[in-house]
Amino acid sequence: MSKNIQSIRGMHDFAPEQAAAMRMLESNLLSVLKSYAYQEIRMPIVEKLELFKRSIGEVTDIVEKEMYAFEDGKDGAWLGLRPEGTASAVRAGIQNGWLHNQQQRYWYLGPFFRRERPQKGRYRQFHQLGVETFGMQGPDIDLELILLTRSMWQAVQLPAENLQLQINTLGDAEARAKHRDQLIVYLSDHQDALDAEARNRLHANPLRVLDSKNPKIQAIVGAAPKLLDYLGEEAKEHFGSMQHSLNQMGVEYIVNPTLVRGLDYYNRTVFEWVSTELGAQGTICAGGRYDGLVEQMGGKATCAAGFAVGLERLLSLVAKQMTDSVQEVDAYFVSLGDEASHYGFQLLAKIRQQLPDCAIQMNCGGGSIKAQMKRADRSGARLALIVGEDEVNNQQIAVKYLQTREPQQVLSEDELLKLLKTQN
Ligand code: ATP
Ligand code: MG
Repeated sequence: MSKNIQSIRGMHDFAPEQAAAMRMLESNLLSVLKSYAYQEIRMPIVEKLELFKRSIGEVTDIVEKEMYAFEDGKDGAWLGLRPEGTASAVRAGIQNGWLHNQQQRYWYLGPFFRRERPQKGRYRQFHQLGVETFGMQGPDIDLELILLTRSMWQAVQLPAENLQLQINTLGDAEARAKHRDQLIVYLSDHQDALDAEARNRLHANPLRVLDSKNPKIQAIVGAAPKLLDYLGEEAKEHFGSMQHSLNQMGVEYIVNPTLVRGLDYYNRTVFEWVSTELGAQGTICAGGRYDGLVEQMGGKATCAAGFAVGLERLLSLVAKQMTDSVQEVDAYFVSLGDEASHYGFQLLAKIRQQLPDCAIQMNCGGGSIKAQMKRADRSGARLALIVGEDEVNNQQIAVKYLQTREPQQVLSEDELLKLLKTQN
């Protein structure tokens, strides 16, 4: 006998109750997006590897270490499973002519793949809700994105007290170049205290060192030259104006000067929502502006800003609220004998047509009344609809309340429809 095949490490199944909670979470988030008039786009899960290298950056964790890449057997092209969505959204926008001289507000949702060390809040297949906006210079769109995320947390009843909004600005290219030179000088002075990874990045991409998760390096980084001190006038004004609007809207935040994000394409405003409940994997949402990316990828220069929500991390914080609001089965149909079962299928067809939101499970596979009532209880239904020979003859249904002490009733079809309507 061969061993059972297991799933890939870090790639998980969702049991029905987990899937239902995730679905509820998603539908709450999507109704917020609808209220802000954002539109859905869908993109392939596999893209040319080059797309991710050019947009995310060669010297980033994602591209250096975390890509699932493979050579396509037929024509030898290198392909990659998407590790994030912005690169694909920009590619799709340029390719389909969605961006030039236009304003767009897009969202997408789906699985993403990174070959990370699996741990709590860090998986190899995970799900993101991504938002990308194009053609708006901000800072009003930056503010809208942050308000949108705040509305999302409210919609999923995420307690605000365990959540912190961190913002920073990465300035414009000129400021980043000046800051980069000073950062290299500073980090070179602390060479001995750096780990191998940080030393590798010192010259290739020193900003990345600020993003290190190594506590020893984080300590050194605390005193490193700050990009904030190199900002040009426009970037300073942009950041100041955004903070002013946040204050006006009563959004609490802190400015975190070491917030740089793990991808290369960001400029000016960047932000993260960090939960204090999740330990090291505390960021549930991250984003910012990437005004240079569309041009860098071959399109006409177009401003852009967006964010992504890590859905597994968010769900782990609100699983209880989401599960509580899921009612999978409203009623369970118990039938005694073939005739009752036949009647049941016809009756349920009528009910489902008239009350499409009412979830009724039909007993299949026979069984004594005792066995069927046990299944009814296990289904979580509020009502058991019971039909035997007498009920078929009278076109009536016995209704038993499974979760309250209300007495059993015998109802006509019309009365049953009325009852189900009020239960929904
Ligand atoms: P981290 O610093 O935690 O590695 P990141 O900067 O790599 O995050 P982003 O690329 O900004 O993450 O992705 C946006 C969000 O997606 C993160 O804030 C997080 O909530 C979620 N996320 C990223 N990687 C994973 C993963 N491997 N497993 C689960 N969720 C993830
Ligand atoms: Mg990461």
